Amino acid sequence: MTDIHTHLFPEQPGSALVCVGENLSASIQGHIVCAGLHPWNVTGKDDGFLSALDVFLSEGRAAAIGECGFDTLRGPSLKLQELAFVRQVELSERYGLPMVLHVVRAFDRVIRLRRDLKPAQRWLIHGFRGGPEQMRQLLSKGLDLSFGPGANVESLRLIPSDCLFLETDGKADIHDVMVNASTVRSVPYSQLERTITSNAEVFLKHSCTVQ
Ligand SMILES: [Zn+2]
Repeated sequence: MTDIHTHLFPEQPGSALVCVGENLSASIQGHIVCAGLHPWNVTGKDDGFLSALDVFLSEGRAAAIGECGFDTLRGPSLKLQELAFVRQVELSERYGLPMVLHVVRAFDRVIRLRRDLKPAQRWLIHGFRGGPEQMRQLLSKGLDLSFGPGANVESLRLIPSDCLFLETDGKADIHDVMVNASTVRSVPYSQLERTITSNAEVFLKHSCTVQ
């Protein structure tokens, strides 16, 4: 497991956490997936989907919930986004599954909810592009971060190795993302691969394939 967030099924099942989003009827066939309601797709009439998601999770078909979260630039009101998010936090806690978060200009809200809801499960903010100061603040609040092609180089260099997650979001080749990270962090590719695989396994509480 090297790619912690993509929307494409990898050639080798288990080498990526594939976000099927709201497509609960996707053919999973050995792949490791997360499912959930994206903030852009929240309508306020989400009970039907959330019930179906509950069943999907109860059958053990997903390793995580997501991507869910907040987007201040797109989607319905933040109030509606928060209602859907909190419902998914409840599912995450009930089934013991971590969450993959889409967060655009709403970090304060996520920090507040993590403080107030005190979840036992981990929340990973995908596609993090912030600088080192914001990174340290989010890590100190118990949040996890993953880095894709647009990552801030200083943050990617400075994040502790046991907190390192890489992703493509389905828009890059994971090998290119890994080569870049190994260069930025001055660690051999094979070592980086072991690190991110081990971190992904711990995050998902799941044994994953090493590519
Ligand atoms: Zn995505």
